[in-house]
Amino acid sequence: MIYTQSRYNLIFPIKGNRYIIYNTLKNSIVVADEEAINLIKENRINELPQEFLERALNAGVLIPNDLDELQVIRTQRKTFLYLSGSHPHIGLTLLTTYSCNLRCTYCYEGERKNLGGILTPEKIETILKFVLSHKTEKTPEFSVHVSFYGGEPLLNWHGCKYTLQRLDALNNEGDITKYFASFTTNGTLINREVIEYVNNYNITSMQITLDGPKDIHDKKRISASGRGTFDKIIENMLLLKENVKKKTFYLNLRINIDKTNYQRIPELLDYLKDIGLSGINISFGIVRGNIPFSCNFHNTLFVGSDLSKVLPMLWEAATERGFKVQTRPNARHVYCMYEKFHSYLIDPNLNVYPCWEMAGIEKYRIGKISDNGKFKANPFYYTAKGRDPTVFKECKDCVFLPICMGGCVMESIRRNGHPNGPGCDISRYIWKQGLEFYLKRKYPQLFKNESLSSNIMLDFKIPERRNKNAQG
Ligand code: SF4
Ligand code: SF4
Repeated sequence: MIYTQSRYNLIFPIKGNRYIIYNTLKNSIVVADEEAINLIKENRINELPQEFLERALNAGVLIPNDLDELQVIRTQRKTFLYLSGSHPHIGLTLLTTYSCNLRCTYCYEGERKNLGGILTPEKIETILKFVLSHKTEKTPEFSVHVSFYGGEPLLNWHGCKYTLQRLDALNNEGDITKYFASFTTNGTLINREVIEYVNNYNITSMQITLDGPKDIHDKKRISASGRGTFDKIIENMLLLKENVKKKTFYLNLRINIDKTNYQRIPELLDYLKDIGLSGINISFGIVRGNIPFSCNFHNTLFVGSDLSKVLPMLWEAATERGFKVQTRPNARHVYCMYEKFHSYLIDPNLNVYPCWEMAGIEKYRIGKISDNGKFKANPFYYTAKGRDPTVFKECKDCVFLPICMGGCVMESIRRNGHPNGPGCDISRYIWKQGLEFYLKRKYPQLFKNESLSSNIMLDFKIPERRNKNAQG
């Protein structure tokens, strides 16, 4: 058999003349010495030691000469889409209201906030009819994930409660086999009743956002009366931390960063640690202006090259203080909910959109749910669900394709003026830093000058990420 190098290898040096080869398609790693690297680069595969050759083949770093890896990606994608089509897991993002109780200075929701309506129990019943219409005799496993979103979803707490009660009842009656719920909330309206629901229903996570230490946050995230919200959000995060004990619940804190606040994030982390919030998950959100309701803060936005310096510093600061950060690149078959079957964002008027940021924008509406629970598709449904990054010129030749899958569509619209183009994920700028950061913690010996047998393959199987029903 003739072998060659995979087109999806990324190589970077570590200590002691050794290199890490990260294969984005298999999501695997091989550590190689300089000699092995040179043999691979010069395509002198037959001269590699047998043991290394076998490991590199297992890791997909070397492949049979006649293997078309782009076809592998296409086949895996088709299989994934086919399976998700025939064994439905329904992903609902429920926009319980377009209204919000805050007036954040950079808010991208813009005029959408004025779109009326709330999800009433009657409308929720219609949505559940629509959900159950996906079920057939061939689908014994039938799970539903509801992500409550807004505006501010807790402004329509009645709608959230009703949805949770009904999902629980459907689960108990055997109409659905599992359900999960999560919230993306500004955190200001969490109270003891919300916590009671977290404890008693299958709510698995809440994402809350801060914009920096109190003085910065309070200038950006303000209430309708113009007051800062930092203290209230912290109070409610502590309420959650102290009163939710179940292990299946995660409090995720997103900290938005831009050029004006990143240097003060360690100070915020110190504060959060001091008040007892260490241990929670932290992600850093990159403020961006990529949508029609865009803000005017482009000069404060980071570009990719800035991020490769700033993010490792912040990851370090967070983990040093006991917070959890996720930095590993992930394999995926679709980038997000946009092109995934059975993933719907539903607004209070039962209009359906494929993406969080498209809500309320008529040209991106993929359909509507009628009173009888039937879905009527718009032409944009086929544009969204038919997106295929493996045919985009830039993506076809891109080493990041298996971990990016064409990126965010809103980013494509901003860059290319249309959805069917690349919307590069930031992981293309920070893959090395993210991987290195992860490996340094998991395999510290790799980054020391200790003698270590070269050419090893690490046990580095990354689980498939739950496809984002989350904002990109
Ligand atoms: S969107 Fe950009 S990073 Fe992602 S696969 Fe396409 S070209 Fe590569
Ligand atoms: S990642 Fe982009 S396309 Fe996907 S849901 Fe988020 S904004 Fe929409």
